[in-house]
Amino acid sequence: MDANHNVIRKFIEIPEKFFSELTNQPFSHCIDCNAHLLDKGTSYYIEKVIKQYKKLNTYDVIYEYAICASCCNKLASQYSQTSLENIQNYFLNHTDFLVRRHELLAYENIDINQWIDNCVIRGTSIHDLEEYQMACHCFGDKMVLDIFPFIIGGEALEEIVKLLSNQTLDIISDFKRNKLLSPTEPYPVNTDYPLLFV
Ligand SMILES: [Zn+2]
Repeated sequence: MDANHNVIRKFIEIPEKFFSELTNQPFSHCIDCNAHLLDKGTSYYIEKVIKQYKKLNTYDVIYEYAICASCCNKLASQYSQTSLENIQNYFLNHTDFLVRRHELLAYENIDINQWIDNCVIRGTSIHDLEEYQMACHCFGDKMVLDIFPFIIGGEALEEIVKLLSNQTLDIISDFKRNKLLSPTEPYPVNTDYPLLFV
């Protein structure tokens, strides 16, 4: 998805929800090229996958990382054309980012929780999701409120995975196996979920 449309953007401090679970600090380096991310204007994305245990009232971060825009583009350029088109069509058919933007601009003081309270595809409440992916777009030490941030529940992620070609799934799973650190042990590898910053 292209987050670089010519629209008014709001920036906020990066909420702690998007801090690294390992350090309790903002992500500071790209997982791929190790570039420093917190310099003003550096564009990067954060993704975390969370598993919730409602009965125990707790959760695990299955994996988390930040990736600079340049490494992200490099990775996405290896996705097959079919996969890219399928992902984009899926989002076009299931979400209305224009409406989301209008809602966002209507708020004076945005509550970030309101923005990531429901699966952006299905509308399921975050409290009812066993597993979800949360994603945001940052510039240096600020988060941009645009089409990001959002969360996507496990069921919608499974649907997206089915739209990807084998070539694309291999690229994603290689990237995750080689790069990702999990704050939880043992590493519960779920390498299928797509990176959605494309
Ligand atoms: Zn990088």
